[in-house]
Amino acid sequence: MGLFSKKTCAVCGGKAGAVFNHKIAGDLVMCGDCRNKCTPGLTSKELKTMGVYEIQENMKIVEENRSLYENEFERTREFYTGARRDKPVIYVDEAHGWWVNATETQPYLFRLDDISSYNMRLSTRYLDEDERRDRGFLEWLFAPDFYSDYPELPRCHYDEKITGIYFDVRLKNNELGLEKVEIDVFPGLFTSESDVRGAYACCHELYMYLGDLRNRAFESFDDGAPAKESTMESLEALEKLHSLLKSGVITQEEFDAKKKQLLGL
Ligand SMILES: [Zn+2]
Repeated sequence: MGLFSKKTCAVCGGKAGAVFNHKIAGDLVMCGDCRNKCTPGLTSKELKTMGVYEIQENMKIVEENRSLYENEFERTREFYTGARRDKPVIYVDEAHGWWVNATETQPYLFRLDDISSYNMRLSTRYLDEDERRDRGFLEWLFAPDFYSDYPELPRCHYDEKITGIYFDVRLKNNELGLEKVEIDVFPGLFTSESDVRGAYACCHELYMYLGDLRNRAFESFDDGAPAKESTMESLEALEKLHSLLKSGVITQEEFDAKKKQLLGL
């Protein structure tokens, strides 16, 4: 076979270009169109271990996810970034307990329960010589009061400037097999005060909202536990708590506090 011979896509039966195809299990190939219908998070290494059936199952899950979002998702809560706080970042459907990354044109739908942890991440670079000389244009970024409303969020170092702001969401086992959603909350091309303020305010709101959800999940777990338990029940409760800790739903401090309480320490 020469370079220009056409291979057949094992999934749809269409032509899979000799160069722009994707290898799957059993020395078979898949076309680009089919690849785009799978979870984007799948690496080429993972694809090589997947057979036709498995890939079709993955495509079905992705399609069902899209259809749920298009037909059943109802926005009840929205989070915005940007200088005018008009750029959508996350949409939530509180009745269903769903959320999507609103910065994507074709977002995936996740459960709020899928979230194991989240954090705001700055990407920065060192100031160049000109910027160092004329630091005035960034003074606001290093003023103590700039961060006073956001003590939980990361700060920019004095000799750096912000080039990107992300809200990373880590996911627990979800049908799509995605482990992380990286949301760009810095819409500006340049480090401008209003854009950075908008992004900080947005991340702060997300921290408050998601932290509150997590606390409520923790409390509802609490409600089920009687005030005085037998040792066996305490151990069972501890086991559950430990799995919550491992999956990141509760923090080490929260776990330690409950552990003390359950063991009557
Ligand atoms: Zn195909």
